[in-house]
Amino acid sequence: MSGLGKLRVAVIGAGAAGLCAARHLLSRPDTFVPPVVYELSENIGGTWVYEERVGYYDNGLPIHSSMYRDLRTNIPKEVMSFPDFPFAKHLPSFVHHTEVRKYLEQYCDHFRLWDHIQFGTSVASVTPVDVKGGWNGLAWNVNSNNVVDHSKSTTERFDAVMVCNGHFYDPYIPAIPGLEKFKGTLMHSHDYRTAEPLAGKSVVLLGAGLSGLDIAMELSNVEAQVILSHGQRPLTLPPGVQQAPPVTSVLDDGTLEFKNGERTKPEVFLFCTGYNFTFPFLDNKVGVKVQEHLVWPLYKFLIPPAYPSLFIVGICRAICPFPHFHIQSQFILSVLDGSFHLPSHEEMEKDIELDITAHRARGIATRHILKLDSEQWAYNDELAHLGGFKPLPRYWSNLYESNKVFRARDMLNYKSYSYTVLDNMEWKVHDLHGQQ
Ligand code: FAD
Repeated sequence: MSGLGKLRVAVIGAGAAGLCAARHLLSRPDTFVPPVVYELSENIGGTWVYEERVGYYDNGLPIHSSMYRDLRTNIPKEVMSFPDFPFAKHLPSFVHHTEVRKYLEQYCDHFRLWDHIQFGTSVASVTPVDVKGGWNGLAWNVNSNNVVDHSKSTTERFDAVMVCNGHFYDPYIPAIPGLEKFKGTLMHSHDYRTAEPLAGKSVVLLGAGLSGLDIAMELSNVEAQVILSHGQRPLTLPPGVQQAPPVTSVLDDGTLEFKNGERTKPEVFLFCTGYNFTFPFLDNKVGVKVQEHLVWPLYKFLIPPAYPSLFIVGICRAICPFPHFHIQSQFILSVLDGSFHLPSHEEMEKDIELDITAHRARGIATRHILKLDSEQWAYNDELAHLGGFKPLPRYWSNLYESNKVFRARDMLNYKSYSYTVLDNMEWKVHDLHGQQ
């Protein structure tokens, strides 16, 4: 430990990442004062709080969740869960989003998190202050506002801050020449809730990530004429969904032009192009920048070298999120309690630079550096090794990666698979669809 006495940590956001952070901080009363979890909404769960409306809440805040009504998870519950808190046994492997929200509420019950969450409180600024004898000579002023009564503003002092504000709420729309000339309905998947309003319409859907594919399939079920525009190899999709290369421009009369020169004039142009990272409350002094979808400089995608008691949790993409938060939170605790000694400021900067250079040398564009994909397992193991805590059980990566293969092979049916983890930590899969 630092010799400071117990440390006081602020957690920004009560989504899955913030809850996980709080759960681990509370498990160490010898080292940490119970955390303050700031949550601007009245609910825990962030992404998993489905909201039928789009746009803004009554209190003027933008709607956070990008959840759609019929979403079922794309990761089986056997590996989607936090490793120390499984989903209920009776649930299928791929659960409806309402079950994930319930699961997170049960997590709060089980680990007694509720009392530590300040609902309706929006963090407005996070500012480092030099404090003699503070953790690494630093402390943080966290200023927050009551979202209903704006006159209620408070500033509290913390030894460390864990930023868990999510990154699926600020829509990213790529710059497409002439986009302003599009005459139909322009929308982003953030505002997609159900297929019915688009029934029978012609829709060009840009982006074939998980949401893009899911939505394309939902639209094909309501007889929309869907063109899925993307830059990947041809995918196996329902017969109603055509595929096209990326849209490159919008012509004067509102027609979309694809990369192969073909054209179409749909009623709806739907962007499934992902989200921006935003940290509007972070003091500029901290120097954390977002450039081409890369948040940097962050040691181990978490820690700004100049301010090593600030932690930006959960920014990696193409990962298995809940276990990833579980690992990152424990690593952060190991940094704060001194069981892992961070390298020097210069060494961390060097590490980040080398990592970015190595990615570029492998032909990985800046915007994809945070996409860990299969590298997430080595990353998780490395943090567990450095922090000296238990890594994920060994079947985790294997089951998760197998699901990815099944999904790629059978996009239409992979959610009808059911997984069982056996006592010996092996697992087996059962194709329920095949049995019908
Ligand atoms: P969020 O859930 O976004 O939570 C962030 C919280 O921070 C929110 O409650 C927000 O109100 C709060 N907040 C933000 N700013 C402030 C502020 N200034 N002050 C106070 N509070 C603030 N993951 C899976 O594992 N399986 C899936 O099947 C899956 N499907 C998904 C489908 C969709 C459509 C989307 C968008 C995501 C999906 N994910 C899935 C990823 C999912 O986002 C993560 O699993 C996880 O829920 C992210 O948690 P988080 O805590 O990082 O962010």
